[in-house]
Amino acid sequence: MGRRVGGGGMRGTQEACSLYVPIHQPEHPVNTARRTQGFRESVIRGMTRLAREYRSINLAQGFPNFPAPELLKEAAARAIHDDINQYAITWGAQRLREALARKYHAWYGLEVDPEREITVTCGATEAMISALLALVNPGEEVIVFEPFYENYGPDTILADAKPVYVPLDPGKPLDLDRLSAAFSSRTRAIIVNTPSNPAGRVLTRAELESVRDLCVQYDALAITDEIYEHIRFEGEHVPIATLPGMRDRTVTISGASKTFSVTGWRVGWIVAPEELTGAIRKVHDFLTVGAPAPLQEGVAVALEQMDQAFYGRLADDYRVRRDLLHGALVQSGFRCTSPEGAYYILADFSGLALPGSERALSDTEFAIWLSREIGVTPVPGSSFFRDGGDGGRALVRFVFCKTDDILLEAARRLRTLSSTGTAPSPRPFEPAARSGLQR
Ligand code: GLN
Repeated sequence: MGRRVGGGGMRGTQEACSLYVPIHQPEHPVNTARRTQGFRESVIRGMTRLAREYRSINLAQGFPNFPAPELLKEAAARAIHDDINQYAITWGAQRLREALARKYHAWYGLEVDPEREITVTCGATEAMISALLALVNPGEEVIVFEPFYENYGPDTILADAKPVYVPLDPGKPLDLDRLSAAFSSRTRAIIVNTPSNPAGRVLTRAELESVRDLCVQYDALAITDEIYEHIRFEGEHVPIATLPGMRDRTVTISGASKTFSVTGWRVGWIVAPEELTGAIRKVHDFLTVGAPAPLQEGVAVALEQMDQAFYGRLADDYRVRRDLLHGALVQSGFRCTSPEGAYYILADFSGLALPGSERALSDTEFAIWLSREIGVTPVPGSSFFRDGGDGGRALVRFVFCKTDDILLEAARRLRTLSSTGTAPSPRPFEPAARSGLQR
């Protein structure tokens, strides 16, 4: 699998596209359940494989390349040495549930019963699908902000729910008229992702109050994804469960992946009123039994022992990375808004003059071309939009959850794009130093 250098332009892109086929749905699906045929494999995870193949810097999938906090790792290692090797209680190790209850109280003033209102899951990913399967009936509507994190599409299909989309664009306020028009008596729930992936919006208290008013008016649930709650550059994090009238109709989802830089540990959680939790726990139990027991111990210790300074540093460090990548993208000719939270930048590439292309490249063609010829891999924007993704055809998403050396090298490569009309010089055939590529 040698790296091809030079060439560039359309020929290279078309060749590359054929390599891209496996992550799309086969043309004639046979012998698989109908419920699997309405969606394809994750494009985000597919781009990680593409980055490996091209030895390109992976700014596609959102996982950090820096170490997790020592005390977290030591606590998990200690748990393994202490033979915490068997199933935890299906809805989560007691120590973790108690640590979570204390955290929600200390940070947000939420009183949570660790025995009846918390479910520990295999990441926020399992939390979301378990919540939807447990709480939404087939055919009921679920409101989703668009662009949306890729998983929500398949999640609604697997739950047989009908998604209804409301725009949430980078740097723009939530359109309250569109929001209100999306609600009806058919609405069962709204997925509230703040800080948002990929738009980078941190919803304001006023925006969340508008969501609250509609949830109350239409007797709908809010199912949140607050996984980036501590990665914020503007505003405050307001869990919608804390707004008057919402505690009983909110399913709050978060996890350890992003806060403690352990996306591979798969430890997430759900906070919800007892009745909702009862249904969620049944689904969770039969899907996964539980999240990894020793890793739950590690996360419990981190929640117990991390001080405010840790969370402050996390956001400060991400702010520096955000500014580095945002500056590089703007200088390279992308149009993009600096995100208020989370660690993604959605960038419009339509203003770039690309060598050798006679027509505008689609987002997928551009993402592959960029991986192959420039050595930086983003996610095609279409994967964050409904029905084939027309809304994202001029967009790609970059992550900045990487160390400075990786981001600086990515910035250097991206800047070669701004020298219009000249083909970028081929990259040397060697892996990017300490790249974000998965091993
Ligand atoms: N949330 C991250 C992203 O959007 C990671 C997704 C994943 O692969 N689980 O890239």
